[in-house]
Amino acid sequence: FLQGRTALVTGSTSGIGLAIAQALANAGARVAINGLGTPEQIDAALASVTDTGSQARHFDADLRKPDQIAHMLEAVQAWGNIDILVNCAGIQHAAPLAEQPPQKWDDIIAINLSAAFHTMQHALPGMAERGYGRVVNIASVHGLVASKNKAPYVASKFGIVGLSKVAALEYAAAGSRESGGVTVNCVCPGWVETPLIEPQIQAHRNGGSRDDGVRALLEEKQPSLRMSLPEDIGAMVVWLCRRESHNLTGAAMPMDGGWTAQ
Ligand code: NAD
Repeated sequence: FLQGRTALVTGSTSGIGLAIAQALANAGARVAINGLGTPEQIDAALASVTDTGSQARHFDADLRKPDQIAHMLEAVQAWGNIDILVNCAGIQHAAPLAEQPPQKWDDIIAINLSAAFHTMQHALPGMAERGYGRVVNIASVHGLVASKNKAPYVASKFGIVGLSKVAALEYAAAGSRESGGVTVNCVCPGWVETPLIEPQIQAHRNGGSRDDGVRALLEEKQPSLRMSLPEDIGAMVVWLCRRESHNLTGAAMPMDGGWTAQ
C-alpha cells in the first residue's frame, strides 16, 4: 500500500532503523537509508532493503551537523518527495550525571533530538501541501519515564516527545481522511535487541552468560520478560503509515512489555 511513496529513515544502517527500512520497503515504499558504517555494512543494509523488490539508496549525513542534514534532505527530495520521515538515529551513554562527559551531552542532544527538528522542519511543509505525511520519531520508554545514569538520553527522549506533540498540533488539520492527513507520533520502545544496548547487557552479566545479562535487564524494568525485536517496531511504523491511522497523531506509544504501566 506504500507504492509510489518515498520514505527517509535516519539511522537505518543498523538495528531498529534498518528493520523499519525493510518493513517500509516490504510495503512498497522507496526508502532513503541514512546512517554510519563501513562501505560493506552500508552495502549489506542496502541489499537487505532492495531484496524486497523496492528501490533504496544510501544518503550520507553525520546528524550532528545541521549543514549535512540540510544537504541530505535536498538530495533525498530530488530523488522523491518525502512522504514518510522516520527519525531513528540515536546514541546512548550510560553514566551518572556527574560523570557524563559534556561532549556526550552535546552529541546525544544533537543526534537524538536536534536532528529530528531539522529533518521535520524540512519535510513537514511538503507533506502538508500534498495532504499525506507521516513522521514517526523513535523515542523510547525514556521519553516517558526516567532511569538513573541516562541524563542526556532521557532529556533527549522527553524532548522529542514534546517536539512531536507540537508538530502534531500544527499539522493536525492538513489533508483529509481520503488523502491520509499528516500525523506526527513517537514510538517508545522498551528493551529491543540491537547493538545499542550491548554494553548494558554486558554490564548486567555479573560474571554470568550474555543470557544472564539479558534476563537481569528485563527483570529490572520490563514485565513481559521478553525483548522486542527490531521488526516488531518496523511493523508498528508500517501500521502508522496506513490511511486509517489519519487521526492517530501527537501520541507517544509505548511498546515496552508493560514497563511504563507500572
Ligand atoms: P543502533 O546502534 O543499532 O543504530 C543506531 C543507528 O544510528 C545506526 O544506523 C547508526 O549509524 C546511526 N547513527 C548514530 N550516530 C549517527 C550520526 N552521527 N549520524 C548519522 N547516523 C548516526 O541502535 P538501535 O537500538 O537500533 O536504536 C535506534 C533508535 O531506537 C535510537 O534512537 C534509540 O534511542 C532507540 N531505542 C532503542 C532501544 C533499544 O533497546 N535498542 C530502546 C528504545 C529506543
